[in-house]
Amino acid sequence: MLLCDEKGFFGEFGGRFVPPELDKVLDEVKDAFEKYRKDPEFLAELKYYYQQYVGRPNPLYFAEKLTKKLGGGKIYLKREDLNHTGAHKINNTIGQVLLAKRLGKKRVIAETGAGQHGVATATACALFDMECIIYMGEEDTRRQQLNVFRMELLGAKVVAVTEGLRTLKEAVDAALDDLIQNYENTYYMLGSAVGPDPYPAMVNVFQSVIGQEVKEQMLEAEGCLPDYLVACVGGGSNAIGLFAPFYNDKEVKMIGVEPAGKGLSPGMHAASLTLGKPGVIHGFKCYVLQDDKGDILPVHSISAGLDYPGVGPEHSYYKDTGRAEYVTITDQEALDAFFELSKTEGIIPALESAHAVAYAMKLAKTLSPDQKIVVNLSGRGDKDVAQVSEMVKNKQIALI
Ligand SMILES: *Cc1c(COP(=O)(O)O)cnc(C)c1O
Repeated sequence: MLLCDEKGFFGEFGGRFVPPELDKVLDEVKDAFEKYRKDPEFLAELKYYYQQYVGRPNPLYFAEKLTKKLGGGKIYLKREDLNHTGAHKINNTIGQVLLAKRLGKKRVIAETGAGQHGVATATACALFDMECIIYMGEEDTRRQQLNVFRMELLGAKVVAVTEGLRTLKEAVDAALDDLIQNYENTYYMLGSAVGPDPYPAMVNVFQSVIGQEVKEQMLEAEGCLPDYLVACVGGGSNAIGLFAPFYNDKEVKMIGVEPAGKGLSPGMHAASLTLGKPGVIHGFKCYVLQDDKGDILPVHSISAGLDYPGVGPEHSYYKDTGRAEYVTITDQEALDAFFELSKTEGIIPALESAHAVAYAMKLAKTLSPDQKIVVNLSGRGDKDVAQVSEMVKNKQIALI
């Protein structure tokens, strides 16, 4: 079910704030999305690739040892980390590449910061024989050399953007320029539940497979729905994928976890919903981290996948209506959870997902043993092991 109106507004958030030349490009994508999201053949093909290629359904795993150790509510982990490529992002790129194919596009472009969306895009493009161009700030290509090589292995061309601060923002601008010039044969693949209409709605639809599976799996395991859903929020795609199918189940509480980074002063975190104000960023309206003049503030998080100064419009709406609650977890708390889950359950989580685990661990202690929490384990931590090992070596952190 989609909550937005025909212009892509979730309450006052979302919509489309773009130059006129982009409007018709987005209309083409929107028309295709509206048509195919109800098309049985399209849905059958999507289901086939989810099962045979991504490896869905992935388990809803009862973390019994962690639960016992904390001594409160039961913690279940939705294992998106077990998907092909190791995270939830592939659910969305497979869906969008199937749409691009039906639009007759031969070329896919995307922007990426940490490289995770670039890798998921390059993977889908390899599978469907699409030419793939990934825009990345030059600074980010240096920080994420392994992901650049991964994308190249998968046949993508990585373009290092040398404008401005040479990070994600400039990569977005470069990708949009490309799209305006080449829209006739080119599809723009967006990686989170953000951007102008129809992207937030589309990402919701492709990621909702997470929550749909959780519902069935929980009913089978416990005979009831969970009391809490917990997911980390960067742009908000893994969280909306878990939350949206439970929207009308009012007894199920939803908690989105934002990165508090090094603390809640300006520039130290990326807690857009917690500390932002409504504004427009990258073509849509949402809670944005900005100063008094409306200039966008710098952001920080230990996990590269969470440091975005905006957030999905649907989460902005959930916050204002009180349907979901948004909390924060610091870098240190996320690291502690990263170590704890690794040791206790033998599962190394992505640093992004470790934010959700950290909050669930706090929450579980306050609950009774008959209450249940589902945590979205959005990705595996292999990509973060070198970074954490560096921090341990430099004695920035201690291995617990
Ligand atoms: C990209 C990423 C995120 C953050 O993106 P959302 O759109 O907020 O889900 C979270 N977890 C992992 C593993 C990621 O790769």
